[in-house]
Amino acid sequence: MPLKFFADQYFACKNCGKCCGIWEVPLTQEEKERIEKLSIPGIDFSKNKIFSKNKKHKSLYVINKKNRCCIFLGADKLCLIHKHHGEQLKPLTCRIYPFDIINWDDDVTSATLRYDCPAVCSQSGKKICSFGTDISALAKELYKKRKFADARYNRKLKPKLSNLRIIAEAYKNFLLDTRFRPTIRIFAAAKLIEFHSRPENSVDVLEAGSFFSRDAMELVKRSIKDLEFILSEPAPLNLHEKMIFRFLVGGFIRSDEEYAMKILPFARLSRVKEILKFSLGSGSLGKLCAQLPETSGIDPLEAVKGMKWDEDALDIYWNYIGSRLESLHFCGFPCLGLTFEEGMQHLIISYPVLASISALSARADKRGNITKDDVSKALIIIDHTFSRSQLFAIGYVKRMTAILCTEGTLASLLKPLP
Ligand code: SF4
Repeated sequence: MPLKFFADQYFACKNCGKCCGIWEVPLTQEEKERIEKLSIPGIDFSKNKIFSKNKKHKSLYVINKKNRCCIFLGADKLCLIHKHHGEQLKPLTCRIYPFDIINWDDDVTSATLRYDCPAVCSQSGKKICSFGTDISALAKELYKKRKFADARYNRKLKPKLSNLRIIAEAYKNFLLDTRFRPTIRIFAAAKLIEFHSRPENSVDVLEAGSFFSRDAMELVKRSIKDLEFILSEPAPLNLHEKMIFRFLVGGFIRSDEEYAMKILPFARLSRVKEILKFSLGSGSLGKLCAQLPETSGIDPLEAVKGMKWDEDALDIYWNYIGSRLESLHFCGFPCLGLTFEEGMQHLIISYPVLASISALSARADKRGNITKDDVSKALIIIDHTFSRSQLFAIGYVKRMTAILCTEGTLASLLKPLP
């Protein structure tokens, strides 16, 4: 089966233990029984409750936690199953991470690294191509467990997957083209999505061929002056648009959502209060996500204004965009079931969201410049939410994202950005 991935990705585990933290590890009955037969120092299967039934999928189990970490995580941050019996005996979920592997309906397998793993965001380690054999072996195991993935362009258009890949390639080509400044690339992507949403242009999508990328690039080049003009004096955001944007920033940083869902209802109420405060502009990143700093009183929309960006600050973000577009992992099963159009709008809006979170972190640190580290931290959080939170599959959240991608609103969000 052909394997597709964005080549410029790297990984070498740093044993930080993050992936063995608060996330649930689902496993099958077979995996559970296999682990129960192992002799693992410090684990007594007869005395301790090691597994529980998965609440969402009745045929599955989850590994219980101790101090908010996987019960098999040792004090040295190493997995006890891996350490005493080798990697192969770990549940498939653990062996796959931080890869995201999808088997598609047209016999293509795609893989990306997950940017919520700090090692991936640091861009060090082995290149993704050197994991080719492991990825193929894991993809074979997934054949038996998951449905094959499919995707649509939007609710009306369903071109072949090969056409969707051509369209994604076209977006990748101009979004990663450093001849254009970042804001122009993102704005052009939004304009192109809008162009193809018109019924009279649907044939371009359905019959996308080798010409698509060339035409898209030509269109972007021809539109630069007009795009710069729109970006020069956009109308200010109205209150509704401001609230939607701040709400979405809050949504993108729900990295500890799984934990939040387990806390008592009154504690959840105080979380709702924090989300509301954040949507009104006076909340704090730190109150919504434990990994982010205290930023009370700094409006996410104001934080980016006047900020300087280090030259390499956004490199990892473009790498992330390239990986998503190459693999098509921003739409279709199992990533929230978004269409290509919805997935693209999500990627487009991730730029001002990431800028806002990075700027808030820099301001919390009393700096006037945004560094590579600020962007990496923001990306670790937003990639986590994108691949796990069901928030972005909700109709009204998709509508909010679409509103923020409209010409005037997006121009206003992008104006202060590089
Ligand atoms: S989050 Fe990444 S670096 Fe940390 S333990 Fe997991 S795979 Fe390794």
